Amino acid sequence: MLSAYRLREEPYYRPVGDEVGLFAAAAAARLPMILKGPTGSGKTRLLEHMAWRLGRPLVTVACHEDMSAADLVGRWLLEPAGTVWQDGPLTRAVRHGAICYLDEVVEARQDTLVAIHPLTDSRRMLPLERTGEVVRAHPDFLLCVSYNPGYQAAQKDLKESTKQRFGALAFGYPDPAREAEIVAHEAGVEAALAARLVRVGAASRALVAEGLAEGASTRMLIQAGRLIAAGIGFVPACTLAVATPLTDDPALRDALAALLDAQA
Ligand code: ADP
Repeated sequence: MLSAYRLREEPYYRPVGDEVGLFAAAAAARLPMILKGPTGSGKTRLLEHMAWRLGRPLVTVACHEDMSAADLVGRWLLEPAGTVWQDGPLTRAVRHGAICYLDEVVEARQDTLVAIHPLTDSRRMLPLERTGEVVRAHPDFLLCVSYNPGYQAAQKDLKESTKQRFGALAFGYPDPAREAEIVAHEAGVEAALAARLVRVGAASRALVAEGLAEGASTRMLIQAGRLIAAGIGFVPACTLAVATPLTDDPALRDALAALLDAQA
């Protein structure tokens, strides 16, 4: 089951600390996990890598405010032969022993998230109110959620009663040498160019003190690297992939342009 959700090849993941071992221990202890950190910092990639390593399918749900409990759990569908129940992604993961990843979980409404509570304590079960079935979690089922604490409005934080059911790993930007290794690998560029891109990243992150909402993510640096590998110049590639998406503020744009020129 869920064979479409199995990763066939090892997703490249460059550990920053001991997160691979810690995640494996949490999975063995069946402890649901929160991955928190800025966007593009490797949360999803770690999960893909761990799903491959643990040999479990990975079912990902991008959370949003219009998501209902039925979107997670399942719904009755009207078919020519009558109504049939269709499991939602969470229920499929619970039944068949997948890792269920709720990406950007704080975007979901609190009443939707209540559905996950019985899965996150020793009961490990999912009551399907609409069918009356109680689905006991497969031993390999693991619930993981992610969010970015950086741009969290207070009302969008996870409820204490939800939070305290999870273990958590915090992600930041990797140190420059490691980040350059990741950029070189993912963008297919040489080490020296990757190091220059990483310096752009670091300089942009320093602009947070000047009012930039968030500095360039590793993902952005990789995208710039790919454009350069495809023949675009350093400054236009970084302008397109990093500076222009990051801000609309003219002063911050100028500051970003200046730091690109410094690395050009
Ligand atoms: P998010 O934290 O938003 O889930 P991702 O995991 O999707 O971010 O990371 C964005 C991209 O950055 C990935 O597709 C991958 O190319 C790269 N990346 C970031 N951190 C790492 C890492 N530690 N090892 C390998 N790739 C990484």
